[in-house]
Amino acid sequence: YGPEYVRAIAPYQAGKPISEVAREFGLKEESIVKLASNENPFGVPESAQKAMAAAAAELGRYPDANAFDLKMALSKRYDVPMDWITLGNGSNDILEIAAHAFVERGQSVVYSQYSFAVYALATQGIGARHIVVPAKNHGHDLDAMAAAIEADTKLVFIANPNNPTGTFVTGAEIEAFLQKVPANVVVVLDEAYNEFLKKEDQYESAAWVKKYPNLLVSRTFSKAYGLAGLRVGFALAQPEVTDLMNRIRQPFNVNSLAQAAAIAALNDKEFLDKSAANNTAGYEQFVEAFKDMGLEYVPSYGNFVLVRVGNDDAAGARINLALLKQGVIVRPVGNYGLPQWLRISIGLPQENAVLITALRKALAEDR
Ligand code: PMP
Repeated sequence: YGPEYVRAIAPYQAGKPISEVAREFGLKEESIVKLASNENPFGVPESAQKAMAAAAAELGRYPDANAFDLKMALSKRYDVPMDWITLGNGSNDILEIAAHAFVERGQSVVYSQYSFAVYALATQGIGARHIVVPAKNHGHDLDAMAAAIEADTKLVFIANPNNPTGTFVTGAEIEAFLQKVPANVVVVLDEAYNEFLKKEDQYESAAWVKKYPNLLVSRTFSKAYGLAGLRVGFALAQPEVTDLMNRIRQPFNVNSLAQAAAIAALNDKEFLDKSAANNTAGYEQFVEAFKDMGLEYVPSYGNFVLVRVGNDDAAGARINLALLKQGVIVRPVGNYGLPQWLRISIGLPQENAVLITALRKALAEDR
């Protein structure tokens, strides 16, 4: 059935759920540590739990299709009018809506090697042609990406920081790129991990949408805000771009509980600060251990680290299995073309310690 370009799609590989690993390896669910999906180890902020409890009474009604209150809160936070905002069922939805809204079958989409898997899926799902630009030091080579744009290119995806490599391009580099891109090409700047950036690395992407009519900034509540299971993402862009996005999206793509929780989380600075501080400490914990084990890693700006666990192309899968047997779930990245590496999300200090011990054991037994 279906078109060839759909049959050619390799499905997204999500992190293994705890229940599945428990069953498969005969472990207790409580003993399993999951550092596989770049989730927030603190879980849902209490403020958001309260907001959802209050919103639950209205679940007999459809969600606000326009998400007025959430858009109002975002509009204040980012200083853009409400009609510059598109909401998504997670930011994956934003990425997919953008592909549908701006690209025709057969036209091309530019993104980087080793960048987020959904760019390929969104591109293939509409029968578009992808132009995959070789990475530089595991990250985006923006000069090469600008040069790769062809006459029929309609969309560029940039992840900053990038998943799964954790790499980062500076604000100055992105702005230089935006100045080079033809006006009829939409640039999706996917900032799923933005809230983890240190102050000195922050840049003004929300303000740039006022300057660049073809820029769409994508954000999510799944990472630093701790709402991955609720599926809320959003995009900031000028009304011409936003209007097209809104024609394509599903009318009720963000449910009522998610809308209520997102407003609460957006205003929960304490939770955000706690998450960022935990992430910084956890990153140092990992880096120190990786250095001690003599493992190569890619310096990360996100809430995860890409680490090389061997020199042969079966190493990632082998060490991943050894970790699973010890009840630790991480993410193999062979599907990204990185079969010697594992991507490990930063958890609570104790979870990180469990991973480090398990990894040492796995590597020692792998010799
Ligand atoms: N963009 C990037 C770079 C990501 O890593 C992720 C999460 N894996 C997403 C977007 C999508 O996240 P969500 O749909 O949960 O917002």
